[in-house]
Amino acid sequence: RAIVRDIDMLEETDPFIKPQPTLPVDPTVFEKRFLTRIRDLGEGHFGKVELCRYDPRGDRTGELVAVKSLKPETREEQTNNLSTEINILKALYHENIVKYKGICQEEGGQAIKLIMEYLPLGSLKEYLPRNKSRTSLSTLLSYSVQICKGMDYLGSQNYIHRDLAARNVLVENERTVKIGDFGLTKSIKENEGYYTVKDENDSPVFWYAPECLTHCKFYLASDVWSFGVTMYELITYCDSSKSPMTLFHRMIGKSQGQMTIIRLVKVLAEEQRLPRPESCPELVYELMRKCWENKPERRITFKRLVEELTNMQQ
Ligand code: ADP
Ligand code: MG
Repeated sequence: RAIVRDIDMLEETDPFIKPQPTLPVDPTVFEKRFLTRIRDLGEGHFGKVELCRYDPRGDRTGELVAVKSLKPETREEQTNNLSTEINILKALYHENIVKYKGICQEEGGQAIKLIMEYLPLGSLKEYLPRNKSRTSLSTLLSYSVQICKGMDYLGSQNYIHRDLAARNVLVENERTVKIGDFGLTKSIKENEGYYTVKDENDSPVFWYAPECLTHCKFYLASDVWSFGVTMYELITYCDSSKSPMTLFHRMIGKSQGQMTIIRLVKVLAEEQRLPRPESCPELVYELMRKCWENKPERRITFKRLVEELTNMQQ
């Protein structure tokens, strides 16, 4: 005590001894007590995303952020997945990928939350049906190019997304979209070039390429297939009466569970594909079909897609 008091006195008397600076704060660590929930933004299979304000000063001047946590019922088995998602997103820097901001740890340290930038217009699935009149075909093509650029970058970092769909593409503003939701993203081992899935209880089957359905194998080219389905969603303005699920069910009949997958594999093997939407130019549909080649090695790449889509916009 006496020593501390002496140092304090020294500081006061000697201007050359500066007070110890406070510990540098890690801007990626968000304290739970400063995070206030505003409303739900959406939820998917495992996660839930809320709009929150991070307001350490407590005067409502703090920034708005999107906070992803796990639904209580899936918390046990999905905690690793969220941690993986956090670690992947943290390392990604691209203008068409949602920005990582940090994490928030629950008091006990068990539950973890992912903090990302808030994109006020939500996902394409919510945005497109509401903004049809202000979204031209060339804007849709521009969104498609941006998705391909983000995906090409992701592939260059050796990741497979595995859940590319309009519901997982976020809208920053009228001109800009970003890929969000890296919950199913996996790193591919250099020597293998694909990722094998073990448990497949909740998969977005209508976005999946044949090799994913038959062998549970995911290649970069499997994401290209899903991109084709995503582009189909964009062209139909995410109209649910024309959704991939609705149309595939029309092809395979009503079914559930494993039967759906068996029938889907069959129609795809017979070269049946989602039909060309009315408003879709032939050239654009041809590109989708290049994403839907049965053999992964025959599919177009994201790099080529960027080139072809860019040419089409001119
Ligand atoms: P899940 O892994 O559960 O599918 P997502 O990350 O896809 O979770 O988020 C679910 C929904 O929440 C999205 O479809 C979107 O509507 C909304 N959402 C997610 N992230 C953001 C964000 N950063 N800004 C605004 N809305 C978001
Ligand atoms: Mg999602």
